[in-house]
Amino acid sequence: AITLFWFRRDLRLQDNAGLYHALKSNFPVLPLFIFDTEILDELDDPEDARVAFLHQRITELQAELEHLGSSMLVRYGKPAEVWPEILQDYLVAEVYTNHDYEPRAIQRDEAVQNLLAQQNIPYFSFKDQVIFEKLEVTKLDGKPYTVFTPYSRMWKNCLASQMETIQENGIEQVISFFLKPYPTEKYYPNFWQTAPPPLPALSAMGFQPSSIAIPPTTVSRGLIKQYDKTRDFPYLNGTSRLGIHFRFGTISIREKARRALELNETFLNELIWRDFYAQILFNFPHVAQRSFRPEYDQIEWRNDEDEFEKWCAGKTGYPIVDAGLRELNATGYMHNRVRMITASFLTKHLLIDWRWGEAYFAKKLLDYDLASNNGGWQWAAGCGTDAAPYFRVFSPAAQQEKFDPEYKYVRKWVPEYGTDAYPKPIVDHKFARERCLEVYKAALKGG
Ligand code: FAD
Repeated sequence: AITLFWFRRDLRLQDNAGLYHALKSNFPVLPLFIFDTEILDELDDPEDARVAFLHQRITELQAELEHLGSSMLVRYGKPAEVWPEILQDYLVAEVYTNHDYEPRAIQRDEAVQNLLAQQNIPYFSFKDQVIFEKLEVTKLDGKPYTVFTPYSRMWKNCLASQMETIQENGIEQVISFFLKPYPTEKYYPNFWQTAPPPLPALSAMGFQPSSIAIPPTTVSRGLIKQYDKTRDFPYLNGTSRLGIHFRFGTISIREKARRALELNETFLNELIWRDFYAQILFNFPHVAQRSFRPEYDQIEWRNDEDEFEKWCAGKTGYPIVDAGLRELNATGYMHNRVRMITASFLTKHLLIDWRWGEAYFAKKLLDYDLASNNGGWQWAAGCGTDAAPYFRVFSPAAQQEKFDPEYKYVRKWVPEYGTDAYPKPIVDHKFARERCLEVYKAALKGG
């Protein structure tokens, strides 16, 4: 009999909580990955860079495992259909995995757990993706936080509440229990020694390689040290670009949080935002469809399709907005400051439903993550947990002046800016601002 370890968004062997526990089980471990058609079938771009990245990463993991004399079972299909087949093909004693907090993933995991229970196969799942999950960081009454600043204060208290001494590279260190690495490498001999079954080709799944480059998993110490000074300026290379690696678990959050703690508190805060939105999605799953604050679902969005298309294409006539969308379309990345500006512009200037923008970002962002994307959009639209008050409408011109005063970012992405070829503003700022305030006010008064 064997133990199966099911990889999902934790695609690394090192410092992987669930894998560590699997390797300590009483059976040899066979890792498993399922290319999930429930997700892949919803993607409409055959050159989706995230799928190509995923395929490449699974190929690499399989090679790493082969090097250890083991392998990875890779299947393509719906988990609900693939699992019964696996249980027929292998004598499975136990199943290990890591928690996933998205509503659909929770349903998927419950279904698999039920199937396993029918055959008396134990299923063990662990926290790996975040430092604190679910209801680990709560208010004193045990309820989840919905405002970031007090959450982050309590997050730091929790981190400091269990300190331990460990040896790393022969050096004694005091670190939080919650940031301790899981030394999977000590147990590599416990992988099942078996030959690798073939991996489905990318083309067999209907996808092709992408020309979009994936940022590396490493970031210089210098960049993190300077992060608080550089991160707000889109024309600088001042942020880590690690988003996609956090998304797929190709890096360990514990390792990066240790680094952040040592080098830059502002960077640590961004990692805390990530935990914050993950616990919001888990504790308030309705946000995946609706506003966190129900009264905001009364807003009468204009939802003009032509204007939406212009926004998507980066042709609104507002240079910083257009630069952002064009950066996104070309690279699968958009700088955080510009995500805030473009999201605010779509929802408040154009009065287009935040869910339209959320879906567009979901299609395009390499680092797309339901919890953080949803949190970012609801923040910008004013309907979210920690939202900017609705009456604060970003002025694109003022944002431009502050964060790209020399138009370096704009010139990079909108070369025709300043010529006749560049479109006139899609809407007048003052007019749009007043219209937004009226529509929001009407919704919040109940019509
Ligand atoms: P860095 O600035 O180097 O930060 C390091 C890491 O911290 C990020 O990779 C990310 O994991 C985390 N982080 C940073 N800022 C935030 C934040 N505000 N909320 C949550 N986590 C954060 N982030 C995503 O990971 N996926 C998304 O789909 C996503 N959509 C967004 C949509 C909108 C409208 C907005 C305003 C923000 C969104 N963000 C999203 C948050 C943020 O913009 C990105 O995490 C960041 O720009 C990624 O670039 P980076 O890796 O260089 O981040």
